[in-house]
Amino acid sequence: SRTPFVGGNFKCTGTASSLTSLVKGFNDSITGYPEVEVVIAPGTEYLGLVKAVAHRNIGISAQNCVPKSGAYTGEMSAEQVKDMGLPYVILGHSERRHVFRETDAEIAAKVKAALAQKLCVIFCVGEKLDEREANKTQEVCFHQMKAALTTIAPADWKNIVIAYEPVWAIGTGKVASPEQAQEATALIRSWLSDNINASVASSTRILYGGSVNAKNCADLWARRDIDGFLVGGASTKPEFSEIVKACV
Ligand code: 13P
Repeated sequence: SRTPFVGGNFKCTGTASSLTSLVKGFNDSITGYPEVEVVIAPGTEYLGLVKAVAHRNIGISAQNCVPKSGAYTGEMSAEQVKDMGLPYVILGHSERRHVFRETDAEIAAKVKAALAQKLCVIFCVGEKLDEREANKTQEVCFHQMKAALTTIAPADWKNIVIAYEPVWAIGTGKVASPEQAQEATALIRSWLSDNINASVASSTRILYGGSVNAKNCADLWARRDIDGFLVGGASTKPEFSEIVKACV
């Protein structure tokens, strides 16, 4: 009885004009599925525009934030995300971890600050290809969760969604097999059960992300521990609504 969740991460793509027509299309194609929690995350510069255009049943998310307002040129703080009326923020995305070298400690501080603002955190974990090949998938994901999630107050768990995004599957067209995605999401749920509690393990949504598209989503969605998706490339196309529809 976990509410399905489908997120679209536009990353650093789009223009005012392309995002306006994309989101207007979603207003027609997606809002007919109120049983799915749908969230889109445009770049910072388009948050206001997309918020103004999107139907109120489509949630808007920031793609990152820093813990505090102040002298942090180029950043947006958790407080500012909240102030913009945005209910969600993605944290710990692999591109933040590996391209921009965010550390576990930095990500943990961001999660803490975002939860203090009552934001819903879409928290991403996932292993790189060499780590999977070295059978370190569990170790890497557990380490990333331990660093950011062990100190969360019990009442804040309702504001956490976890996305399992193996780095080798992101933007590569190499989607994880349903077996691989189920295995990893089940491991994440077992970590919650062992390190938090059974109720958090059974209520927390765990998503799969990495080359999800309209064709491969149904087989992934059929797996027990996959509660939805975090979609990159395919979320910037009308195809995104097909992925939402698959999760009804
Ligand atoms: P792709 O769907 O483009 O592989 O990106 C996944 C992702 O990183 C979503 O956050």
